Amino acid sequence: MSVAASIITLGDRFARELPEMALPWQAETVPAPQLLVLGESLAAELGLDPAWLRSEDGVAFLVGAQVPDGARPVAQAYSGHQFGGFSPRLGDGRALLLGELVDIGGDVRDLHLKGSGRTPFARGGDGFAAVGPMVREHVLSEAMHALGIPTTRSLAVVATGRPVRRETMLPGALLARVASSHLRVGSFQYARATGDVDLLRRLADHAVARHHPAAAEAENPALALLEAVVAVQASLVARWMLVGFVHGVMNTDNMTISGETIDYGPCAFMDAFDVAAVYSSIDAEGRYAYGNQPVIAEWNLARLAEALLPLLHEDAEAAVELAMAALGTFPVRYSAAWSAGMHAKLGLPEGSDDAATGMLVDDLLALLQEERVDHTSFFRRLASAARGHADPVRSLVRDTAALDGWLARWLALRPDAPSMDRVNPVYIPRNHLVEEALDAAVAGDLDPLHRLLAAVSGPFEERAGLERYAAPAPEDFGAYRTFC
Ligand code: AMP
Ligand code: MG
Ligand code: MG
Repeated sequence: MSVAASIITLGDRFARELPEMALPWQAETVPAPQLLVLGESLAAELGLDPAWLRSEDGVAFLVGAQVPDGARPVAQAYSGHQFGGFSPRLGDGRALLLGELVDIGGDVRDLHLKGSGRTPFARGGDGFAAVGPMVREHVLSEAMHALGIPTTRSLAVVATGRPVRRETMLPGALLARVASSHLRVGSFQYARATGDVDLLRRLADHAVARHHPAAAEAENPALALLEAVVAVQASLVARWMLVGFVHGVMNTDNMTISGETIDYGPCAFMDAFDVAAVYSSIDAEGRYAYGNQPVIAEWNLARLAEALLPLLHEDAEAAVELAMAALGTFPVRYSAAWSAGMHAKLGLPEGSDDAATGMLVDDLLALLQEERVDHTSFFRRLASAARGHADPVRSLVRDTAALDGWLARWLALRPDAPSMDRVNPVYIPRNHLVEEALDAAVAGDLDPLHRLLAAVSGPFEERAGLERYAAPAPEDFGAYRTFC
């Protein structure tokens, strides 16, 4: 028996409770696995020994070559609206749920592989992943976690030694991803599309048990589940907006039931503020632009509500009414979360949302848009202005007179600089630094990656020697494009 098999326990609750959505499958053999990066603190959270994970047996476990006893890896079935069009059968085309771990806090976490080979859901895809995008997911998701924003995590990226064909041949890799679950809006769309209401009910029960246990006690658990997902997604998208995160591919299969950010394909942190910011090369019409994200989240939640209709009420009209009421809470919840977050960014006390503050915020957004100012630097440097040093923030804009007028109004509210530094990051994974780290990693040099990870793992605390990680992109970096 292998070492992994003897020391790790992986549950198969998803596969047992929802066999119709779980296709037993195994990872393809990895010719020459080589660990590129390990999430040491996450490993510790999971009760896994980082030293063991670095060993030959540990790496074999991380690529799905050694499967613990009792584990049953499965490809999960799901549907999804991609750019507005419905695909009834997506599913894990190049991924597997290895099983469920219980972390040291007693919480259940999915351990999942991405890039583990073709499955019956692969359609035209090769089932593999390249080093660059998997390292990218590692950096961006770790940065997101450090920012305190709910997200799936990356336990490890392992190079496979198998080249993958994209526009050119690229080195292959596999990501070991950890999530509180991989249930998506698209999972419910899949269950609904089968027409099997018993399956839909089991899926809802499973989701309630794992993520929103209070809903089990509600008079109408499915409605309580919908309300809970509306709440966590409203909060999540508000957090994205406040930090300038553009997800890039908010298809319904990429929206979780848990409220964690998932799928770091074409995402990016915005440099120059622009409500129309789009980075994804495939988002030609800007459906998933920065400023559209709240509306898209609401649209996706409407798809979840539709999928849940048969569970909401036996009378179809009554079910629709309940769904509409639950969805109707999204704008209010989103606005409340966003406003509270924006007040914190501006160092204003909670509950300072009178008309004058509202106008101050609106005027700020207009100014940021007009100036296309570097979003992260602007908010971080505002704290200096609150401390009496306006030059750092003034140097970011052309129309200093307009900024000065705004600053005077804001300073009259006596913003609290120390609290601003706890919510406005100084280090985010800036696009030019991500690209630098990825290019080096693909060429075999992992140093820039480790330096970038060290910076973004402590986003709020300014440290000497990290100046280049705090600076806006150089002028010659140009327009940024991301690929799925
Ligand atoms: P995404 O756009 O990353 O959310 O992926 C959408 C769908 O495409 C999912 O069903 C994925 O499993 C599948 N997919 C993406 N890339 C590949 C690939 N290289 N091979 C097989 N399936 C893939
Ligand atoms: Mg996806
Ligand atoms: Mg993806």
